[in-house]
Amino acid sequence: MAHFTVIGLGRFGVSASMELIYLGHTVTGVDRDAKIAEKYVDDFTQVMICDSTDENALKELDLINSDAVLVAIGEDMESSLLCILALKKIGVKEIWVKASSRAHHTIVSKLGVARIIHPEEEMGVRVAQALNYPMVNDYLSIGHGLYVVEIHIKPQLDGRPLGDVLDPAKGKVDAVMVKREQETFLQLDKKFVLKEKDILLLCGPRSELKHIAPRLA
Ligand code: ATP
Repeated sequence: MAHFTVIGLGRFGVSASMELIYLGHTVTGVDRDAKIAEKYVDDFTQVMICDSTDENALKELDLINSDAVLVAIGEDMESSLLCILALKKIGVKEIWVKASSRAHHTIVSKLGVARIIHPEEEMGVRVAQALNYPMVNDYLSIGHGLYVVEIHIKPQLDGRPLGDVLDPAKGKVDAVMVKREQETFLQLDKKFVLKEKDILLLCGPRSELKHIAPRLA
């Protein structure tokens, strides 16, 4: 279990916090607006009313004991930047920041934070991918152009061997796992017979996954 501090309780800050709590972590929520902070008193581990641009006020929050601090102030770029500077001065090492614009991103990237997040852009890309490849239920970029994709096997592939799916990729795409109801199958060979509604996880370069996608539609 880790402890996180989320500064800015807008929609993004609150949904990230609720998921962290759901995952078993503790979260301190911080907002300068007392009405907003009070709204979440029962949902967070603790809630603090604090203007995060004020370094002295931030020092009261014991942020050094947070495994990461998420700055979720979007609209007010000045507040976000001043908050990051204050966190750095206090010595917080793991700072994650929500950026609301290119300019915001450019400046934040000079401040040496651990991660900059663009929720709207990242979500936009995911939605476009889902529309473009409706057979891909979910995907994860694992760096160096490699992706893990989750595919739900359609009726037309029922009874077909895995090789029918993988062969066009000429060994560049691997089947990681098949999930069939409660059962999981690992170390799959090409003779493994697919069944409708199987969930197939494939891993490989984006270009090769794209190549085999039409076979899965
Ligand atoms: P959303 O996630 O809803 O899209 P947003 O990107 O519009 O939010 P803002 O509304 O700018 O982001 O800020 C989110 C929250 O951050 C608000 O509840 C606001 O009160 C709080 N906030 C803004 N500035 C500060 C600050 N200096 N210190 C603490 N909280 C702040």
